[in-house]
Amino acid sequence: MTPTPTADVLISEVGPRDGLQSVKSTMPTADKLRWIDALHAAGVREIEVASFVPAKLLPQMADAAEVVRHAITLPGLTVMALVPNRRGAEAALAAGVHKLTMPVSASAAHSLANVRKTREEMVEEVRAISELCRERAPHVKLEAGISTAFGCTLQGLVPEDEVIALAVQCVQAGADESGLSDTVGYANPAQVRRLFRRLRAELGEHAGAAHMHNTRGLGLANCLAAYEEGVRTFDASLGGLGGCPYAPGASGNVVTEDLVFMFEASGIGTGIDLQQLIAARAPLIAGLPGEPVYGMTPEAGLPKGFTPATRHV
Ligand code: ZN
Repeated sequence: MTPTPTADVLISEVGPRDGLQSVKSTMPTADKLRWIDALHAAGVREIEVASFVPAKLLPQMADAAEVVRHAITLPGLTVMALVPNRRGAEAALAAGVHKLTMPVSASAAHSLANVRKTREEMVEEVRAISELCRERAPHVKLEAGISTAFGCTLQGLVPEDEVIALAVQCVQAGADESGLSDTVGYANPAQVRRLFRRLRAELGEHAGAAHMHNTRGLGLANCLAAYEEGVRTFDASLGGLGGCPYAPGASGNVVTEDLVFMFEASGIGTGIDLQQLIAARAPLIAGLPGEPVYGMTPEAGLPKGFTPATRHV
């Protein structure tokens, strides 16, 4: 299937990284590759495939380099990896990624707990990795994802001025774009509008993706609010993989299938074929037996007479 050449929005699939690193069991490499192939076949054109962290911390990501080396063979796919530090960035660049993403916490408490660095130290890390990219792989793009941008389970409120200031500092330090992540599922649409409006006013074309979680059922509403503020890249996870460890039973990342359905039904093209996207759940489920997967659209099926915005030939 050939998707329409121009999609209106970019759906960035984060399941193979964000999803898999949040579940206890490790998906075998062969299943990961089959899953990524199925996502690509459905028309997904950006996938965060792995995290380059020490295998003893996250055994689920021990095969990161192998997964990247496979994913970069898929035509038209932008292959992303998460890197927390320079060492991870070196390994990711050596494997051949197209884009790096760094998690930078807006919450001072979360930053120390998550990466054992202050926010200021993380901005310096962004600067170092941006220089590394310029030296070794100038075509590689660097994204700083501002995590806990809408609130934090450790410190509660995260001041909006601090979120925006940090995003600006990351771009000044060399990040190509800076997006906002609702890491713990605290965001509401009014807040999403406010923050993305400010982000886009400050950063213009350097304003990045919306990374929303569905912990309290507002994932889609938050994505729509971000869309209406001009955001055009959305992170999502097939089957909503990646339950928030602080909210047992709650689904984590916004469900890719439901997000694609919302956009396509509204006449906003994603370039993705929904039937094939739903079929891409099979290798995910096969590779993680017993792990819950979410999604209203896959359960209910497509409405009778459904006309997607994306035409496939
Ligand atoms: Zn997430």
